[in-house]
Amino acid sequence: MGAEMTVRPGKSGRSGKSGRSGKSGRPGRSEKSEKSERAGTFKQKRVLYGLILILAVSVSIYAEKSFKSPSVTEQPSLSGDESGRAGAAFEEGRSAAYDWYESIPAYAGKASVPVHGNIPFFTAEEITEEVFEEYSDLDEMGRCGTAFANICREIMPTEEREPIGNVRPTGWQTVKYDVITDQYLYNRCHLIGYQLAGENANEKNLITGTRYMNVEGMLPWEDLVADYVRKSGNHVLYRVTPCFEGNNLVASGVLMEAYSVEDDGQGICFNVYCYNVQPGILIEYETGESSRDENWSPEEQKNTAYDYVLNVNTKKFHMPSCESVDDMDEKNREYFTGGRRELIEKGYEPCSRCHP
Ligand SMILES: [Zn+2]
Repeated sequence: MGAEMTVRPGKSGRSGKSGRSGKSGRPGRSEKSEKSERAGTFKQKRVLYGLILILAVSVSIYAEKSFKSPSVTEQPSLSGDESGRAGAAFEEGRSAAYDWYESIPAYAGKASVPVHGNIPFFTAEEITEEVFEEYSDLDEMGRCGTAFANICREIMPTEEREPIGNVRPTGWQTVKYDVITDQYLYNRCHLIGYQLAGENANEKNLITGTRYMNVEGMLPWEDLVADYVRKSGNHVLYRVTPCFEGNNLVASGVLMEAYSVEDDGQGICFNVYCYNVQPGILIEYETGESSRDENWSPEEQKNTAYDYVLNVNTKKFHMPSCESVDDMDEKNREYFTGGRRELIEKGYEPCSRCHP
């Protein structure tokens, strides 16, 4: 009897399948009237198939949502994409987990990594030529939230920056290490850089950031936007979101999104995460306290403390964060510290993907 029972589900399973794929659940009903035992098994099967179907559908929706990573050259589709709103999302929870954040790999020598296929999370409604600047209110712990602006020539500063030393962002510590250029571990790090919006000592726009994040992570992207706006006179939607985990006073990193409005992202389109780390230093993000990483040697930094990556074969040079660097053959790769003019004089051309 037991042996027979194990055969039966196979049969009713098959009929269940055909019922599901074709003519709804009707055949199931006629079977039910025939034999209640069989119908019971069939019903269970149907429930099981239903669950599997729901699971399969939700997995595929999830997969489409989080792995919809078009190549960087592909034009971003910004219509009706509500998956993002990373800024708003972080603003509400600041510590909640979001699928893009979960997908960020651990820091591995690159100051920034692309997020969401390098396509920003702006919605179609947010694309505007209207000038604005929005800074989130500090939260109950005194932490910054998203800063969002439409960068254009009108809001770019014409004067030298004034001192910002009176602002003490959360987690701030004045501490020096001899392994760091300029020695200071932390900078008062503008979310929207001074060169873009001219915000000086605005406490809603300054976080505790490592020198490494400030200079090697954020600055190259900021420069890209500043150069583009100066040259084109166009607008660039620009949003920077600090990511605080739990009750940490120091952000783990920042999300930077940018999109040039008039040319639909042809000039500027990126979505990157910059790590708030400092090679050679261990940071306690809860408090901002720090210590030397005894296992770290300055030689390791050779792989991170460079300005550009060269392809000696194609004679192109890249930002260290460029995705092309990953695809590059190891034997063609060279790390370079110095200015871009020097490289151009040596016969190198800037990459058309990362615009170094
Ligand atoms: Zn490149």
